[in-house]
Amino acid sequence: MINQHGQNRNPEEVQAIANSFNSSNNASFRELILIGPGHAHVLLLRKFGDNPLGNVHVTLISDVEHAAYSGMLPGHISGIYTRDEMMIDLRRLCHFAGARFIHSEARGIDLKRKQILVDFNPPTLTADAVSINVGGTSCVAGVAGAEAWAIPSKPVPELLSGWARVEAAAHSKQSLRIVVVGGGAGGVELALAMHSRLGDNGAFTVIHAGSHLLPGYHPRTRRIAAEVLGIRKVSVITDRRVVEVMPDSVRLDTGKTIAADFVFWAAQAAPPAWLAESGLETTIEGFVRVTPTLQTISHHWIFAAGDVAAIENRRLPKSGVFAVRMAKPLERNLRAYFAGAPLGAYKTQRHSLSLIGTADGRAIASYGPLAGHSALFWRLKDWIDRRFMKQFTGLTR
Ligand SMILES: Cc1cc2nc3c(=O)[nH]c(=O)nc-3n(C[C@H](O)[C@H](O)[C@H](O)COP(=O)(O)OP(=O)(O)OC[C@H]3O[C@@H](n4cnc5c(N)ncnc54)[C@H](O)[C@@H]3O)c2cc1C
Repeated sequence: MINQHGQNRNPEEVQAIANSFNSSNNASFRELILIGPGHAHVLLLRKFGDNPLGNVHVTLISDVEHAAYSGMLPGHISGIYTRDEMMIDLRRLCHFAGARFIHSEARGIDLKRKQILVDFNPPTLTADAVSINVGGTSCVAGVAGAEAWAIPSKPVPELLSGWARVEAAAHSKQSLRIVVVGGGAGGVELALAMHSRLGDNGAFTVIHAGSHLLPGYHPRTRRIAAEVLGIRKVSVITDRRVVEVMPDSVRLDTGKTIAADFVFWAAQAAPPAWLAESGLETTIEGFVRVTPTLQTISHHWIFAAGDVAAIENRRLPKSGVFAVRMAKPLERNLRAYFAGAPLGAYKTQRHSLSLIGTADGRAIASYGPLAGHSALFWRLKDWIDRRFMKQFTGLTR
């Protein structure tokens, strides 16, 4: 059997999956299907490993075998963390959780039949409840040449292979001109992380469509970020859109071109189109509309968490931190859902601590109007991120 990556599946694996589907015909068991190995789902599976969901078969559908932890991604690029340190082995996690792992891409949901459409054999999986945590992908739609020439920051494997190309080019070329499109926290961290690796061998420009970097952050945090970028000689262009990406430059909406050997696309990620195409209620941008219980507003048997979820009347930043925070209410509510008990609302705090690594042994801490930049904040971020990953290392059953 060939999976969507063109890899052969060994016959024992095919048989094991087929057997697990047969055993799931047991009527007393119900089916929970998790789509995507986002931050909320990996934590959920970790919890199910400690405290299984009684009488429920759990299946994870994932298009990758290892899920990247976003908190460590810039640190990996800057050389602080190895690939293994920031990756979660999903087969091992599912084994620990007693869940089935299906390495495939979900392509849609048949809402009437309660079936997930997958690129797999069998091509549909029937569920009693579904949870979606698929994040987003870099949205380059409508920008000429971007698909061909820009390196997306999401999905992570494409970002990492793009970065590998930059590193290879840095060996043979004197100075690389690198443009990062998008001045949110991801774009700023990415630019600084790459800068710390290339040093004087790279000339960086961050281009941001809004009037300030770090939208959603307090002006104090933005000022610190602007200072750091200035000291590191990263040029910043605000209030400008990139309208075309060419092999050696980008063109702005003013018509001006900026030379670029590599262009990284870190503007806000877009949700997958199949969510809206399946008939789920979505926002204009295509994010799944959910109630504070994380149930989709159109179908109460479908939950969503992380970047892909848009909670009614709340505007949460799209960040790994919030995807992580949604794990607890998601777990609580899935347990309640299967037990027929009342579900509870995910309560968001007014302010939350955000730590932005600056790849110089320091991090910017931002909490509402409070902001600072220090080595202590980096140590705190490193401690939080390593503690997160520790939950997924050495899992055995
Ligand atoms: C360069 C960069 C740095 C960042 N740094 C930080 C940071 O330091 N801290 C922070 O909080 N946030 C950071 N972010 C933001 C963060 O990456 C995202 O907000 C976060 O990953 C969203 O988590 P999630 O759980 O929603 O989904 P994701 O982490 O995106 O995970 C979704 C998973 O689902 C898989 N998937 C997608 N579609 C399908 C499908 N159809 N079927 C099966 N599987 C599928 C994907 O391959 C992926 O593995 C950064 C982003 C970028 C680009």
